[in-house]
Amino acid sequence: MSASSDKRVAIVTGGASGIGLATAGILLEQGWNVVGTDRDAKALAAAEKALVAHAGRFRMIQGDVTDPAAMERLVEETENEVGPLKGLVTSAGIGRDVPFLETTAEMFRMIHEINVVGTFNIARAAAAAMRASGGGAIVTIASVSGLTGNIGRAAYGSSKGAVVNLTRIMAVELARYGIRVNSVAPGPIETPMVAEIHTAAIREQWNDKVLLERYGTPAEIGEAVAFLIDGKRSSYITGQILAVDGGFVACGLNDRSRV
Ligand code: NAD
Repeated sequence: MSASSDKRVAIVTGGASGIGLATAGILLEQGWNVVGTDRDAKALAAAEKALVAHAGRFRMIQGDVTDPAAMERLVEETENEVGPLKGLVTSAGIGRDVPFLETTAEMFRMIHEINVVGTFNIARAAAAAMRASGGGAIVTIASVSGLTGNIGRAAYGSSKGAVVNLTRIMAVELARYGIRVNSVAPGPIETPMVAEIHTAAIREQWNDKVLLERYGTPAEIGEAVAFLIDGKRSSYITGQILAVDGGFVACGLNDRSRV
């Protein structure tokens, strides 16, 4: 990869797995140069293999979003070696399904540290670079658990609620620099994270409230992200939270036997 100002360069955090990996693949197909970052070295190596068809336009760099200095170095390295940063997707995150009364302060802090502070760290570093080069777009990955009171999501849901409002605040403050900031709030998506957490009983609960009666795919999230990050296709959209959830957030009373 060589530095040049006319190419579109994006960083994808959590880029080695699930939604981040699928989004990186879609952005590559749409002509972006992608730098993926993740803390998981093994997953990074597998992701490099999965995206090998795009070799030359992507690279994977190990990094932890909770380390602000590492995120600043990542942005600097991306700009020096690939080109001015025009896009950021913040997909690094972790989830837990634990009742409120059993949630410890330690777990609460750990989830907020990664999901909220981690999003803040990379977004701040990326926005500073985008401001210097005339603008760009940031897409955060929130969750429907940040929009509704889902059971077992005291730590996770509150962290995603924070990501939702951080997105709006960044949109307000960064618009003057030509930086659009939006969020995609996924419903249940088939990823390694979900494979770990969702039991058969949990799946049944989701499918009861998801109007399309199935889990989504990582690519279905990646397509929405690719639209929101693209300054040509979504140029007048900022500060929005787009639920990509099969209708979960829209669902109220839903007796399927009546229709
Ligand atoms: P995943 O576990 O497949 O991928 C998340 C990636 O983030 C992993 O590769 C992990 O190593 C990385 N990561 C975790 N902590 C990190 C850190 N501190 N620094 C750098 N990388 C780190 O999970 P996924 O399902 O693809 O989730 C991606 C995002 O989507 C998360 O923010 C998650 O909360 C959100 N989300 C997922 C779902 C779902 O149903 N899968 C629903 C709503 C929101």
